[in-house]
Amino acid sequence: MYTWRGEIKRYALIYGATGLLGYFLGILLPSLLVLTLILLGIDLLQLHRLQRWLAKDHGSDKSAPPESFGVWGAVFDGIYRLQKQERRASAHLESLLNKAQESSAALEMGVIMIDRHNNLDWWNSASESLLGLRHPQDRGQSITNLIRDPNFAEYFSKENYDEPLKLPAPGDSTQILEFEIALFGKHERLMIVRDITQLHRLELMRKDFVGNVSHELGTPITVIKGYLEAITDNLQDLDPKWQKPIEQMHQQSNRMENIVRDLLLLSSLETKQRPKPQDAFSLSSLLSEIRNDTLQIYKKKSHTFDLHCPENIEILGDRSELYSALSNLVVNAAKYTPEDGEIAVDVAFDEEFLTIEVKDNGIGIDPQHIPRLTERFYRVDVSRSSETGGTGLGLAIVKHILARHDAELDIESEVGEGSRFTCKLPALRYRIADLAGNEVSEKAAETATSLTH
Ligand code: ADP
Repeated sequence: MYTWRGEIKRYALIYGATGLLGYFLGILLPSLLVLTLILLGIDLLQLHRLQRWLAKDHGSDKSAPPESFGVWGAVFDGIYRLQKQERRASAHLESLLNKAQESSAALEMGVIMIDRHNNLDWWNSASESLLGLRHPQDRGQSITNLIRDPNFAEYFSKENYDEPLKLPAPGDSTQILEFEIALFGKHERLMIVRDITQLHRLELMRKDFVGNVSHELGTPITVIKGYLEAITDNLQDLDPKWQKPIEQMHQQSNRMENIVRDLLLLSSLETKQRPKPQDAFSLSSLLSEIRNDTLQIYKKKSHTFDLHCPENIEILGDRSELYSALSNLVVNAAKYTPEDGEIAVDVAFDEEFLTIEVKDNGIGIDPQHIPRLTERFYRVDVSRSSETGGTGLGLAIVKHILARHDAELDIESEVGEGSRFTCKLPALRYRIADLAGNEVSEKAAETATSLTH
């Protein structure tokens, strides 16, 4: 094995022997000079062999470096060893890459990598059939040039990928695709594309079915309810044993009517376009209307009802939808608050959000139910809900309408203490107007009057 010490010894021996011979022959200096030139020549020759070997194409020619000895032999062997390690590592990486490519090619969904300049970097074969991408021509092309739907461009640039996007496939509008995007690395994106045509059809069928059933049930229920109302009006003429059943039938027919009404509303919300932030209406007049309607319905409960809403707030959205959402919250507050209880509606805003808070000091809700309250037909207490004529659809409607207005619902409650339902609308859904109806600056907005009705 090569060592520096052995090498130095070898040089010392060669120079010693040559020096001794030169000394006895009387040519000490010339002999040492000749020896140095010879050694230099050998080094140059080895360097030349190494350079020639390095210049080869090592991808195709896997030959070992030239044989050598001493320090040069060690250098050649070291380089060869490093080269072999490198080859093993790249073979491993290549096999990993091949496996990843083979498995992604077997996927039915499209997988696309997009670089930080929004250009296509890599995609699997399913993406080619789903989106019509061509390999390799489309590599480096901007994704928004290849998928030209404005909804896609908006979704892609918004960078809020919590919800997937559904769109007709480019080139085949009967096929529905779902896009999901995840950000990774240095602002790169991984996009997953699925064909959800079948699911979408089923979803449409479900919506149609619910809509049609609710519609068809409407007339029979109205007729049954009409007769029951007529009978209830003349209850005293009935055999007493029928009085309770008739009362219950009347109560349940009311409930059925409410369920059908709520189902119809939900199905129309699901099929209608989202309201664009174009139409403006006064929030304070909407809330006053809801307050008066609710007080009228629950007159007997003698609630106190405080409404605090600056008069100059205008909501940008669909008034009748927001009437349904907010009146559901206010009616619930009245429904689930005993007599002489307190209900309050407070509105507050800053530059980013507007909040509408509906509070009551009623029976409250056990926090374990809160995450599920906005599910359809979810009720905390089924028996209590059927007594109050509840459908279990009210909060599902509220959530749906708020989502259509880019808003969120937050619920806080404690059993026996009361509940607080907060609707949070983003800035694009409200504006502050002066009392003549014109838009005013943020500064003026701060001085908005807080009215108590
Ligand atoms: P429902 O028609 O049964 O009232 P909702 O979807 O409006 O259905 O409400 C779901 C459930 O949430 C109700 O059954 C009720 O138990 C509970 N709930 C809603 N609002 C309140 C409230 N203000 N106070 C107490 N419980 C409430």
